[in-house]
Amino acid sequence: MEIVIVGGGLVGALLATLLGRRGYHVRVFERRPDMRVAGYTGGRSINLALSDRGIRALERAGLAESVLALTIPMHGRMIHHEDGSLDFQPYGVAGQAIRSLSRARLNELLLDAASSFDTVTLEFEWRCVGVEPERPQATFVHTRTGEERRITCDVLIGADGAFSAVRDALHYRDRYNYCQEYLDYGYKELTIPARDGGGFRIEPNALHIWPRHNFMMIALPNTEGTFTCTLFLPYEGQLSFAQLHSPEQVGAFFFQHFPDAVEHMPTLLNDFERNPLSSLVTIRCYPWVVGRTVLIGDAAHAIVPFYGQGMNAGFEDCRILDELLDRFSDDWDAALAEYQRMRKPAGDAVAQLALDNFVEMRDKVADLRFILRKKIEVLLFEHFPELYTPLYTLVTFTPEVSYDEAYRRGQANEHVISQIMALPDIDQRWDDPAMLDTYRQILERYGAASSA
Ligand SMILES: Cc1cc2nc3c(=O)[nH]c(=O)nc-3n(C[C@H](O)[C@H](O)[C@H](O)COP(=O)(O)OP(=O)(O)OC[C@H]3O[C@@H](n4cnc5c(N)ncnc54)[C@H](O)[C@@H]3O)c2cc1C
Repeated sequence: MEIVIVGGGLVGALLATLLGRRGYHVRVFERRPDMRVAGYTGGRSINLALSDRGIRALERAGLAESVLALTIPMHGRMIHHEDGSLDFQPYGVAGQAIRSLSRARLNELLLDAASSFDTVTLEFEWRCVGVEPERPQATFVHTRTGEERRITCDVLIGADGAFSAVRDALHYRDRYNYCQEYLDYGYKELTIPARDGGGFRIEPNALHIWPRHNFMMIALPNTEGTFTCTLFLPYEGQLSFAQLHSPEQVGAFFFQHFPDAVEHMPTLLNDFERNPLSSLVTIRCYPWVVGRTVLIGDAAHAIVPFYGQGMNAGFEDCRILDELLDRFSDDWDAALAEYQRMRKPAGDAVAQLALDNFVEMRDKVADLRFILRKKIEVLLFEHFPELYTPLYTLVTFTPEVSYDEAYRRGQANEHVISQIMALPDIDQRWDDPAMLDTYRQILERYGAASSA
C-alpha cells in the first residue's frame, strides 16, 4: 500500500512517523528545501505553545519525551497592565502548564523521526500543483528544476497547511463547502533578547500578555533566553499598523502602550521594519475526505492562534486517525469516514473557541469582574470537580474531551457563572465557605453538563 503525504510541516511529519510505525510505505512531498540542511525559512510563528492534546499525540509516536525536553513550561498568563503593574493568572490547578517550543526545532525533530523508518521517504522542493482526488493522483513540480512528476497512490493526504493545494483540488468540485474569513487584524513578530551574558529579562515560566482592549502584544519564552513577542493590531484605523510608518511613530506607540516591554526591546525599530506583517485567517471546509484523498491539520481547519491550539488540533487529528486505523484493522475507507465524522465538528468548535479567545486575551483579562470570574471558576473546580471544569482546562488539559464537547460544556459554564456573578455582594463573599452550598445548588441546577 502506497501513501502520499503532501506537506512535511508539523502535521505531515508527525503523521508520516505514525504511519511509518505501522509499517506503511509513505512518501512525503514538501515544497521547501530540507530545513535540517538549508535552515528554517520561516513563514509562520517562531515559537508555539504545545499543550496536552499535542503531547498525547506525540506520546503515541514515542516522541513526547524528546519534544518536552525542548520546551519551557508556562504556568499561567502574566498580565502587564497599562499602569505597569503585573498580575499572574495560573492556567490550571495543580501546576498545569502549556509549553513554549521552537517551531523549527520541533519540525526538524519530527522530520528526523519520520525518516528513521525505512519505509518512509521525504522528498523536498516538490510543490504539489494538482490533484485528482478519486484516483488518487497528485502532480508535483520541482521548485528549482521545473521537472514534473505524477504520482498515483492508494491514499493521498493533504497536510499542506492553510493554503492547501490538495484542498484547492476539492474546492472546485460541485457541492464543496468552503469558507475563508480574515480578521481585520494583522500580526508582527518582535524580539526581547537575552540579557547581556545570558538569562531571561522577564519571567520565563509565563505567557506574557499586554492587553490593550482593541489590540494586544504577547510574548513566549525561547530556550536561549529570548522571547518572541507578537503584536496583534488592526490593519486600519486610529490605532493600527496603517499609522505606524516611521521609526518615530513606532517608538512613540510602544512607549505609550508597552513602556515596561520597550525597555527590554533594544532591537524594536529594526525588527519592526524588517519583519513581515502577516494576516490571520479561519478556513472551514467540507468534506475532508473524497474517495481516498483526505485533509488533515491546517489544510482541513486553519484557525486563528488565540487559543494556542492549531498545531495541537492537527496533532490530535493524527492521533485519532491512527487510533481509528487500529479500531478498523487498517480498513482505510472505514477509518477515513469515521475520522471525518469525529473531526469536522471538533475543527469547527476549535475555530470558534480561538476566535472567542481573542476578545478574552486582548480585553477581558485586564477586567476586574473577569478576574473574579476566573477565581470563582478555580474555586468551583477545586470543590466540585465532578460538576464543573473551566473551559480553558477542558480545551487545554483534557484531551479525552473533544473540542466540540468542550465548547458545549463551556456554554453551560457561562450559564452557571452568570448566575453566581449575579448573587448580591459576590465580589465580597465569593470565597466565603458559607457560599459553597449556594454554588452547589446552582451547579446542580444549571451546570451538571459542564463536568469533565
Ligand atoms: C502566529 C501564529 C501562532 C501560532 N501559535 C500556535 C500555538 O501556540 N499553538 C498551536 O498549537 N498552534 C499555533 N499556531 C498554529 C500552527 O502554526 C498551525 O496549526 C500548524 O503549523 C499547522 O501545521 P500543518 O502541518 O497543518 O501546516 P503547516 O505548518 O502550514 O505546514 C504545511 C507544510 O506544507 C508545505 N506545503 C504547502 N503547500 C505545499 C504544496 N503545494 N506542495 C508541497 N508542500 C506544500 C509547507 O511548506 C509546510 O511545510 C500558530 C499559528 C500562527 C500563524
